[in-house]
Amino acid sequence: DTRHGVILYLEDITVSFDGFKALNKLNLDIGVGELRCIIGPNGAGKTTMMDVITGKTPPTSGTAFFGQNVDLTKLSETEIAHAGIGRKFQRPTVFENHSVFENLELAMKTDKRVGPTLFAKLTGQQADAIGSTLELIRLTHEAWRPAGLLSHGQKQWLEIGMLLMQEPMLLLLDEPVAGMTDAETERTGELLNELKGRHSLMVVEHDMDFVTSIAGNGKVTVLHEGSVLAEGSMAQVQADQRVIEVYLGR
Ligand code: ADP
Repeated sequence: DTRHGVILYLEDITVSFDGFKALNKLNLDIGVGELRCIIGPNGAGKTTMMDVITGKTPPTSGTAFFGQNVDLTKLSETEIAHAGIGRKFQRPTVFENHSVFENLELAMKTDKRVGPTLFAKLTGQQADAIGSTLELIRLTHEAWRPAGLLSHGQKQWLEIGMLLMQEPMLLLLDEPVAGMTDAETERTGELLNELKGRHSLMVVEHDMDFVTSIAGNGKVTVLHEGSVLAEGSMAQVQADQRVIEVYLGR
């Protein structure tokens, strides 16, 4: 079985907008517990790929599986989120007037039946889950501050924490360090490495130094014109003549 040990499997995914192929027979798979960085110039199809994975844009053709048997092309956006795929957009969207702790609490209880609520009493297990997420996202000491008072980087971590409260198996992160200070960027790299293994991660990022720092010996995928141009370690793709041309050749 080609999908064994694979959390995300995309085969020949094409997305056409009025005949223009934003994705053109894209093939990509991500292993369970892998941290995969996706790079590629503007217009390469990175956003469209995430839109397909999360059910926002149905592919024109192709196969998309989550795990062994969840056919993503047959599910709605909400069903995909519930199946265990979390997506973080570039801009943080936290509840500014609520404390950091309450933001995590709301994220945990966000449920399509009940909706967000702060009125139910937390179980010990739920409080522990919030406590360990606070530690992971480096916000334990800020737990009772209104989220609106956090720095940009802290808001980004909080939003990652909010996604984690939903216990996703696969996390899609769009430019997680955009706008961060160097210190925040470094801590984000540590955070993502701590998530690796427990979750599978797809990180779309323009900051090549950051990609180098988090990719380690792991695979990096280069998208170009809607399909995979190169895949391998950061050193391999950076030495690839086609990749050099795409980034520098015009
Ligand atoms: P990236 O995220 O890598 O910058 P995108 O996925 O946003 O790339 O876009 C890939 C290509 O598809 C671009 O040329 C873009 O203009 C085009 N595109 C994206 N969404 C649409 C749409 N809804 N309608 C028409 N063209 C689109």
